[in-house]
Amino acid sequence: MSWEEKVRKVEPYVPGEQPKFSDMVKLNTNECPYPPSPMVEQELKLINEQEFRLYPDNEASELVHALAAYYHTDSNRVFVGVGSDDVLAQVFLTFFTNGQPLLFPEITYSFYEVWANLYKIPYKKLPLTEDWHLDGFTNPADQVGGIIFANPNAPTGIYEPVSYVEEVVKAHPDCVVVADEAYVDFGGESALPLTEKYDNLLVVQTFSKSRAMAGMRIGFAIGNEKLISYLKAVKYSINSYTMNTTSIRLGLAAVRDDAYFKTIVGKIVETREWFKKEMAALGFTFPDSMTNFVFVRHNRVSGKELYELLRTQNIFVRHFNDPLIDDYLRITIGTREQMERLLDFLRVYLG
Ligand code: PMP
Repeated sequence: MSWEEKVRKVEPYVPGEQPKFSDMVKLNTNECPYPPSPMVEQELKLINEQEFRLYPDNEASELVHALAAYYHTDSNRVFVGVGSDDVLAQVFLTFFTNGQPLLFPEITYSFYEVWANLYKIPYKKLPLTEDWHLDGFTNPADQVGGIIFANPNAPTGIYEPVSYVEEVVKAHPDCVVVADEAYVDFGGESALPLTEKYDNLLVVQTFSKSRAMAGMRIGFAIGNEKLISYLKAVKYSINSYTMNTTSIRLGLAAVRDDAYFKTIVGKIVETREWFKKEMAALGFTFPDSMTNFVFVRHNRVSGKELYELLRTQNIFVRHFNDPLIDDYLRITIGTREQMERLLDFLRVYLG
């Protein structure tokens, strides 16, 4: 066997591109268009040489305590990681490598399939309903290794009520159920309170969207103390110092400024609702989004054509090469001015 035949080969997740043009309108990776809290900038000025020279607090305790206080829970029910992608990768490794099939929606965050393949986890993709709601997860079934779904779902933007999450958990008491709430701050209600009632439910969230800190890579999970301790055991078997000190400190500053957080989320929601009306007037259809993006389709022009045209204008949106959704574009909600620039172009092109 050659060395190359002995190599582990995987198909990686492909994130949205990060172009760097000064006049671009970047609406392709669901980042926040506003800066993080001014308290984050102030905290950054206080970072000194020690933060670089010394190892970080391996438990990221200050951030964990702040999150626990913010969500009215105990610190031993909180797990933090380098973005929710890191948290989710460890969740897959800890809870889903039991040999039984993992269930996730057919249309969802495509990283789930990548992690399942990476860890050789068998899986079943459950088709959505005709109007793209989650389906089949509330049916009791034997031999389920785990369940994960995004709520609101991505890239559809559709939110399922907490009562639905509870039905899923009730139907599957014998496996871990993970609700990926990356976008929940933009209008959905979190299933976090249910983690007090069900010991097999884990809720995962991120600082990348609503807290304007994608570049700092901060994600977290909240759940029963036992779940969190299993997760930590796996995490500390890979890397003791997962988060860097700067991220821990700046994340802490962001959690403390709740008023600012609510203001920017409010602005994004307001822009989204206005943008939906403008897009409908241009002949676009879309599911009702509860996130910081809208998943749109035009009755005359294909998603790919629009994506490529917009690129020529330095306007970046996301298009997926999946036959189930390749008619669609996922457009992040930016500032009102950014959305106006997109709309101005579309009005001329489609008009
Ligand atoms: N879950 C979902 C549903 C997402 O869309 C994303 C963003 N790509 C993530 C998790 C990961 O976000 P991050 O690693 O930046 O926290």
